Parts: sequence; structure tokens; C-alpha cells
Amino acid sequence: VEMDEIEFKDLANEVIDFLRKEAEYRSITIDMDIPEKLPPFISDRGKLQQIFLNLVNNAFQAMNDGGHLSITARDTACDQLVFTVEDDGCGIPEADIKRIFDPFFSTKKKTGGTGLGLSITYGLVQELGGSMTVESKVGVGTTFTIIMPLKGDKT
Ligand code: ADP
Ligand code: MG
Repeated sequence: VEMDEIEFKDLANEVIDFLRKEAEYRSITIDMDIPEKLPPFISDRGKLQQIFLNLVNNAFQAMNDGGHLSITARDTACDQLVFTVEDDGCGIPEADIKRIFDPFFSTKKKTGGTGLGLSITYGLVQELGGSMTVESKVGVGTTFTIIMPLKGDKT
């Protein structure tokens, strides 16, 4: 596996740049709480980009115009990078939560949702030795939390 030294803030900004125009058009505000200097983060850049893009894309699809997206990242005492992607969108019903990581589960079939985004994302997080959890409340919003080893996957 190819490993890169990643500045998470740069990666987040690159991904968000893809969505700036849409954010502007839809009056979606985005705030990022990411320290300038995180410890060296060694991982697969392409995979991490895809993980982050999938989560942000879903957030954009869940939010109404005027919504708010919040990105945070921090390092932990046990050599992990924790990042969160939080939206104030429609939220996920309790009954759907356990299915959202299943391939082909989508509530967007009418608008072309494949239901593959989160299952691919889940697989990529696992490949990188990380874990992912979700908290959501219908009508309030959704937060995905991803925990990654700072030094790549040593398993
Ligand atoms: P798709 O986006 O193609 O539907 P995903 O695998 O990316 O497939 O997501 C599966 C389902 O999980 C979505 O259809 C949606 O119901 C739910 N979901 C994912 N992210 C969010 C979010 N941020 N807010 C609300 N629902 C979400
Ligand atoms: Mg998706």
C-alpha cells in the first residue's frame, strides 16, 4: 500500500473546494475546526480523500439551502486522528441507522442514489485501520466520526 504524509487541513480544503460553488449557491455555510499543525499523519491520501468526499457529499445531499456543515479534526494521546463531519440536515431515522453501511441501501433511489457511498467508505476506513461511527437525529442532523491511526495501518 502506498502511504503519504498528509496534512489533514489541506486535504479537507481540497475536497471542500469541489463543493464551494454549490455551497455558495445554496447558502450553505462551512466551518472547519482543524489545528494548523497536527502530528505527521501517514496514510493513503487517495483513500482518505474518497472517504472524506463521500461523507461531505452525503451531508450536502441531506441539507436544505441555508444549512451548515462543520468539520473538525484533532489528534489523540494514543496516536490517532479523529475527524468529524457534521450537518444540520434531515437526519437518519433510527430504523435506517443499522442499514446505511449496507451496499445498495439508499433513500435516494429516485434521485439516482446508488447506496454504495457509505459501504465503500466503510471498507476504505477499515483498510486504513480505522473505525467509523454515526450519530443522527431526524430533523436535527447527522455526525459521522472517523478515527484513524496516525501512523498508517500496522496490522
Ligand atoms: P446514497 O448517497 O447513494 O444514497 P450512501 O451509501 O452514501 O448512498 O448513503 C446511504 C444512505 O444513508 C442515504 O441514502 C441516506 O439515507 C443515508 N445518509 C447518509 N449520509 C447521510 C447524512 N449525512 N444525512 C442523512 N442521511 C444520510
Ligand atoms: Mg452517498
